[in-house]
Amino acid sequence: MSLIKNSPNWVSDEHKMFAESTRKLFDAEMAPNVDKWASQGIVDREFWKVVGEQGVMGGSIAEEYGGFGGGIGFDAITVYEQGRTGDTGWGYGIQSIVIHYLNTYGSEGQKKKWLPRLISGESVAAIAMTEPGTGSDLQSVQTYAERDGNHYKINGSKIFITNGHTADIVVVVAKTDRSAGAKGVSLIVLEAKEAEGFRRGRNLKKLGMKGSDTAELFFEDVRVPTANLLGTEEGQGFYQLMKQLPWERLMSESPRLVSSTSRSMRP
Ligand SMILES: Cc1cc2nc3c(=O)[nH]c(=O)nc-3n(C[C@H](O)[C@H](O)[C@H](O)COP(=O)(O)OP(=O)(O)OC[C@H]3O[C@@H](n4cnc5c(N)ncnc54)[C@H](O)[C@@H]3O)c2cc1C
Repeated sequence: MSLIKNSPNWVSDEHKMFAESTRKLFDAEMAPNVDKWASQGIVDREFWKVVGEQGVMGGSIAEEYGGFGGGIGFDAITVYEQGRTGDTGWGYGIQSIVIHYLNTYGSEGQKKKWLPRLISGESVAAIAMTEPGTGSDLQSVQTYAERDGNHYKINGSKIFITNGHTADIVVVVAKTDRSAGAKGVSLIVLEAKEAEGFRRGRNLKKLGMKGSDTAELFFEDVRVPTANLLGTEEGQGFYQLMKQLPWERLMSESPRLVSSTSRSMRP
């Protein structure tokens, strides 16, 4: 299957050039590692830096934040080429969605602080929604963030978090008002290395997507600056999630779907 030969209408010459260079890069740097990543349950950190240096992760983000100012078509090509290469481990789908959360809801300061690091591959991102007792029904999350001066104190736990074992930046879905249902949900950015009381569980074994690290996360009185809230006020998290989740679903599913098709078509 070739995106270049069977181009949908939206594919421009720039997209074709990007697809070709990404394909070459993945053939050289991803394909030889797919089985190794699957057996070790994690993608080598070095790979994030290699693709970051080649600008693969900044397609839809403005140059001032480290991207190259295209549209989401570039992100779609990246996951398509990942699937074509036969990999389901590299967690770019999640990296991309966090990049989009920050780009859409982040303040100028937040964008300048975090986007360049994510696009360059210096930092890996995760989004922590699911909990042992809460999956589809996100308004029922139990993890909560209490104000304590100019910090939040986060308590709770998450499960099945992609990139969870390695993430430097975690967007935490937490209740800032536990009595307000969906209206009490907020998104708070946690810088994992600096966070006392933040702990990762084991890298969970899975039936598929074996090269992708998936972890439990635990929060015990984790202090995060209130400046790390995404959006201009508390309680916007549920709406932010509802707007961004369709894109996340497309991005996370695509490598698996393309991979199973392209694998079955290989000799
Ligand atoms: C490989 C992998 C990676 C993941 N990565 C992440 C991640 O990075 N971050 C994160 O936060 N989570 C992640 N998850 C968790 C994932 O988002 C949840 O599994 C998902 O939201 C479903 O939640 P659940 O497993 O608790 O199932 P449930 O919510 O218990 O649903 C079980 C079944 O019931 C159905 N169902 C639920 N509610 C209804 C309803 N009202 N009406 C009809 N049917 C319904 C569902 O469709 C499903 O078939 C990951 C999961 C996997 C397997």
